[in-house]
Amino acid sequence: MAKTVAIANQKGGVGKTTTAVNISACLAHVGQRVLLVDIDPQGNATSGAGIEKGDVERCIYNVLVEDTDIRDIVRGTALEQLDVVPATIQLSGAEIELVSTISREIRLKNALEDVAEQYDYIIIDCPPSLGLLTINALSASDSILIPVQCEYYALEGLSQLLNTVRLVQKHLNHDLEIEGVLLTMLDARTNLGFQVIEEVKKYFQEKVFETIIPRNIRLGEAPSHGLPIIMYDAKSKGAEVYLELAKEVVAGGQRSR
Ligand code: ADP
Ligand code: MG
Repeated sequence: MAKTVAIANQKGGVGKTTTAVNISACLAHVGQRVLLVDIDPQGNATSGAGIEKGDVERCIYNVLVEDTDIRDIVRGTALEQLDVVPATIQLSGAEIELVSTISREIRLKNALEDVAEQYDYIIIDCPPSLGLLTINALSASDSILIPVQCEYYALEGLSQLLNTVRLVQKHLNHDLEIEGVLLTMLDARTNLGFQVIEEVKKYFQEKVFETIIPRNIRLGEAPSHGLPIIMYDAKSKGAEVYLELAKEVVAGGQRSR
């Protein structure tokens, strides 16, 4: 049975998609069977994993709204152990269309049950909101991984996110856990980043991943080539840290078993 992890934070530009694509590729690289599920209408995880959005006829929209079998839309990637459930801009209608449907909060959960046996990890890239798509991701997941950018206002909005997590735990998914808080885009040349690290650690304590993701130019370049960092530049700092993070997640999973 796969372990399902939602990468979520309603703030945009904090490194959700970068983390989703690269942790997925790195988990695949260390031998795990991985399904990356894109539920952001921007479809950046889809293209970042090398899938041409123009070639996608049916996507996660059709699964959530029209009950299409998820197995019919899964795509392989250049990495043998990594598959992707794509999203396109069509998904932007789902949030509204789902409102009037039966079991609107657990549609993703139900769909993923059909493929959970085939993977070790299912990683979900969430949109920058706390709407029905993110609720679907949290309902379907064993845990949430929260990327936090090492910038001013890093903690802003997190209480709202944690409140949503509590509501999902209470009403939809009792077993949802916090996998960890991931500090991203650290600029090691300034003090600010290190102050933010202190602040986040004070608040989340042992829930903060030891791995910290620095700003790395190669990480910013890789998506435009449709490649995860370990395929774009395996020797870069970005590849090194995401591999470290993948190993930390696997080790954490073994500890809690
Ligand atoms: P989100 O999905 O939370 O909106 P993204 O992962 O798309 O955030 O990141 C926002 C932007 O920052 C993207 O252009 C991405 O390529 C870039 N980026 C993300 N992480 C890093 C990093 N560690 N170093 C450099 N650029 C990064
Ligand atoms: Mg994103």
